[in-house]
Formats: sequence, structure tokens, C-alpha cells
Amino acid sequence: MKSISNTLLTWHAEHGRHDLPWQNTQDAYRIWVSEIMLQQTQVATVIPYYQRFMQRFPSIVDLANASTDEVLHLWTGLGYYARARNLHKAAQLVSTEYEGKFPTDFERVLALPGIGRSTAGAILSFSTQQRFPILDGNVKRVLSRFYEVEGWYGKKAVENTLWELADFNTPDQGVHTYTQAIMDFGATLCTRSKPSCSQCPLSAHCKAYANGRTAELPHGKPKTAKPTKTTYMLLIKNANDEFYLQQNPPSGIWGGLWCPPQVEAITDPITLNSLKLEVLQTLPIYKHTFSHYHLQITPVMCRLKSNTQRTAESNETWYRLGSEQEFGLAAPVKKLLAKYA
Ligand code: SF4
Repeated sequence: MKSISNTLLTWHAEHGRHDLPWQNTQDAYRIWVSEIMLQQTQVATVIPYYQRFMQRFPSIVDLANASTDEVLHLWTGLGYYARARNLHKAAQLVSTEYEGKFPTDFERVLALPGIGRSTAGAILSFSTQQRFPILDGNVKRVLSRFYEVEGWYGKKAVENTLWELADFNTPDQGVHTYTQAIMDFGATLCTRSKPSCSQCPLSAHCKAYANGRTAELPHGKPKTAKPTKTTYMLLIKNANDEFYLQQNPPSGIWGGLWCPPQVEAITDPITLNSLKLEVLQTLPIYKHTFSHYHLQITPVMCRLKSNTQRTAESNETWYRLGSEQEFGLAAPVKKLLAKYA
């Protein structure tokens, strides 16, 4: 079987990315944060988030000692917030169990929250140059096309085939350079749509290219229509132009983030826990798509009835957009608050 590693190493020396903020370091913490941010997010989007995050949390212990609110605040807009919650939890574990030193043993790294086989391999190959294959989205795409792998990689058998190919191509020497090379190659040349096959050093042996199947491979997830869920989001504003927010439980959609209360149906007046609300206006629907479903949000402008007297709970607050308070807000919530502030 033809290996791609030497060709990619040569290509990378001239065309790879060599000056991203998380490169040219063997600091496992810096590499780990970048790997987590880069899951499901493009490099250009990640860079400013990464720089702010590292400035605020220069070490694992700084991250471990931060509040969840502060961590989520710095993640606001990046999406997939479970990544931030797991990163925070893992930093606390490293801080207490490994005295703040990121482990160098594969099984220990893999046991940390939010780190799968590919991420563990990438962190260790970059930071310690131990030989571990990786299989992120870019690598899956390159291998699927070059070797013409059939089937969706969500299927175990297809995933196993890809891991075998990833392992076969991972060199014994210079693993960190190869890992960066195949990531860069997938991100900049063998891209998801319109790969640059005419400039590709692998094209002479690429099966998908030879068979005119570059647009078809890798096979996507078999299509099923995403369900649509609906919710009413209560925008409750006080005289100081602050919105009433509640913090979501730590897990689940928008876990740990602060949101206006949501209800399934509208009555007038609305009683929410011990809050009594008067409905002022139903606003245009706002649509947001998660990986598994569409959410149709109907914002409803409300105000507290003046006779309401109560003591605030710890998971609720009044918040003015742009204030100094450090809260994690989901992107749609931030947009709605900005629109109706
Ligand atoms: S020839 Fe095209 S599809 Fe094949 S590896 Fe190169 S860029 Fe990817």
C-alpha cells in the first residue's frame, strides 16, 4: 500500500502553516487548549479566542482556579460549550492529581474529560513526540479520498479502517511534523469542497481523484431530517435596561450558560417560580440550529409586575449587555439581548 507521509512532509516544509499561535511550543497545555478549540471550529475563528484565553489563563493552574462563569465567558461565541466545561474540569483534575503538570502517559491523557483518542494522540505527538496517530476531520477526509474508503466514518467498521490507515502512515520519526502536515494539508489543500487536486502532490496516486469521486468522498452521514423544537424566551427588562437571566444546569444544551427563562407556552400573566410577569409583546421568531435539531425561539418581551417581592436565587441575575460581569452567553442569546436592549 502506498504511504503518503514522505510526500506530505516535503509538501509541509514549503506550504504548511508554521506560525500559528499554538505552534513552536512543546507546552502540552497550550497545545491541548488549541486542540480543543479547533474541534468543530476553523483556525481563523479560533485564533483571537485562543489568544484571549491564554492571556487570561497562562497555566493549567490558572484555568483550574477560575470560575466556570469566567471560562464560559471567554468561550462565548465559540459554541459547543461542553468543550469549555470539560477543559475546565480536566484542568482541575490535572491540578489536583498531577500537581498541575499535564500527564505524558497516553491512558492518563485519554482519561481526562473531553479528550478522545485523536486529541490525546495529537497533544502527545506535538508535546512529547511520542508516536500516536491522529484522526481528526481533516485526516479522515484526506485518507478517505486518497484510499477511496467507502462508507460513513460514524460506522465502527469504517472508523476502524481509517484508524488503521492513520497508523500505517504515521512515521516513527518526526511524528509531530507529520501530524501538523496532514492537518494543514486537509485544511488548506484537500479541503471539504473544491479540493485543489491540480496542485496536489498526492494526485498521481489518489484513488478518489483518479476515479472522479473527490466530491463524493468522504461519504457523509446518511441524511435524516433534523427535528424542529420550539420555545418561548422571556426577555424581562428592568428600569435599568438590564435583562433577567438564569444560569442553566451544568450539563445539557447551553449547560452552565446564562439565558433568559424559557417556557413551552405563553399565558398572560406568566408565573415563573415566584416571579409574576406581564406580557408586553411577542417578537419575531429567531431560528438557531444545533447539531441534532433546529430551535425556533419566539422572544417575548415581559416585565415584572410591580407588586412582586422576592429574594434573588444564586442562579439568577440582572445583566446589562457589555457590562463587566463575566458570564457565558450562548451566541443566539447574546444576539437577542443586543437586538432588544
Ligand atoms: S488529489 Fe485531490 S482529493 Fe486527492 S488527496 Fe489530493 S487534494 Fe485530496
